[in-house]
Amino acid sequence: MWADLENAFRQRTAYLARALSRLIFPPHCVVCRHPAAEDEDRYLCRDCLARTAFVSDPTCPRCGHTLGRHAEADTRCIECRNVPLRFDRAVAAAHHDGPARQMVLALKFAGQQHQAFPLARMLAARLRTTDILERTQAIAPVPLHRSRLRTRGFNQAHLLARELGRLARLPVDKDILRRTRNTPPQTRAPSLTARRSNVRGAFTTTSPPAVQGKTLLLIDDVMTTGATTSECAGTLKRAGAKTVFVATATRRMNLPPPDDTEPAAEPYPVESLVPPPDLDE
Ligand SMILES: [Zn+2]
Ligand SMILES: [Zn+2]
Repeated sequence: MWADLENAFRQRTAYLARALSRLIFPPHCVVCRHPAAEDEDRYLCRDCLARTAFVSDPTCPRCGHTLGRHAEADTRCIECRNVPLRFDRAVAAAHHDGPARQMVLALKFAGQQHQAFPLARMLAARLRTTDILERTQAIAPVPLHRSRLRTRGFNQAHLLARELGRLARLPVDKDILRRTRNTPPQTRAPSLTARRSNVRGAFTTTSPPAVQGKTLLLIDDVMTTGATTSECAGTLKRAGAKTVFVATATRRMNLPPPDDTEPAAEPYPVESLVPPPDLDE
């Protein structure tokens, strides 16, 4: 009987603690800062969620670029047909546009590290529509050069990888790759050719046994032409990796997001945004 009473007391206290914390620190939408209603997701309000352009299939089986609505699912897109990409497949959660773009920029340039939580959840939801997570043996973030890491204080790709690893219960190895050259930001390199030469030879692997024969999932915040992730994948492949997948929170697309009057084929599973219990404080 005492055990029952103790249990009931504990549940009651936990409930009160949660209610009190919601009262003192009410959750706000990470994009528009609007206070979240009781039945809303704790990260994104209903409006921002509705304005987010999630990537929906058909997408290019290699680079993950959106294909026209009537494209054959196994055709490589014109974006990458003539480009030697070294990864096996790339996917992204959302178009680099609207709320998702704002979240990536806030994470990267405004030091809002908490943005990694909702972004990783979007990524997990997208990856669950593929077999990538089942096949992956370890997750690796695209590394920053140590001088940029010192200035920024954190690697946004590592924050995303760490959270995704927790959600997917996969090991994260942040030291598999190292950036040996501090390259100028890719945003300053206009063309694919310029971007590719910008990052050529910029990475090295630090632990061959962690790479040889392995299927790895490389994580970055945003993919534009794929030059950086392709260079990383090439480095891993030369070190013996069997398969290298790439997943990014957002992707710049040369096609507008689908018209929102037509719902995406894979509606975004809001349930997957609910944080695991140990985070719910
Ligand atoms: Zn909002
Ligand atoms: Zn493509």
